Amino acid sequence: MRIDIVTIFPEPVRSMLDFSIIGRARERGALTVEVHDLRNWTRDRHRSTDDYPFGGSAGMVMKPEPVCEAVEAIREQSGAKRAVYLTPQGRALTQALVEELAAEDALILVSGHYEGLDERARQLVITDEISIGDYLLTGGELPALVLTDAVARLQPDVLGSVTSADEESFVDGLLEHPHYTRPRSYRGLDVPEVLLGGHHEEIRRWRRQESIRRTWERRPDLLANADLDEEDLAFLAELRNGRGTD
Ligand code: SAM
Repeated sequence: MRIDIVTIFPEPVRSMLDFSIIGRARERGALTVEVHDLRNWTRDRHRSTDDYPFGGSAGMVMKPEPVCEAVEAIREQSGAKRAVYLTPQGRALTQALVEELAAEDALILVSGHYEGLDERARQLVITDEISIGDYLLTGGELPALVLTDAVARLQPDVLGSVTSADEESFVDGLLEHPHYTRPRSYRGLDVPEVLLGGHHEEIRRWRRQESIRRTWERRPDLLANADLDEEDLAFLAELRNGRGTD
């Protein structure tokens, strides 16, 4: 997969993509991420990407020409069908949306600043508007990196053996079970006995139940769409009836 990020701050974005799992996946060629300086598509002496808003008000607005020309030029190279503008006004980013985007061969991500993009750029070249949550950030670089990371880890060969993508929170609509490592006992808190016994079926059942319990305690809203079988539903009923603790 190829992801192209358009930003007025290419350096910090590039440096965030150089380390850990994503950095190694890029080195191996499992993923291509290109970071573009929006100023490369400006035409004036000052390389301006923003201007005063018509109608007046405090903030600046990102000019439509550099954004449109950048997206069109990159689209020509990468063949991306979707150009995403990261904005608090967009569709909420969920794991389901991440999975949808991860199936694309290429994506273009546009980071905004100030008051955001001129509305014409949004109409002309942006196909998707996505928000990473109901709060305001100063710029779209962190949202673009969040989206890149979430989509990248679903690509074949990106995670390798570091971790498994199909046993984590949200994958089947639940939060993940707790994890433990050595030592067995720490400050009076012991690793649950079941994890020490090596009985795979019991461990599977414990993890599944703890996953359901955690979701029920912390994010009961997720349960309505979770993928639950009869055994899961029976355990959930126990939790709801005040049982489910042994
Ligand atoms: N004036 C805009 C509004 O009220 O909708 C907010 C602009 S925000 C201060 C500047 C830029 O940060 C946006 O163009 C967007 O790229 C990014 N941004 C801020 N919060 C975001 C969020 N929750 N999700 C995605 N992008 C966000």
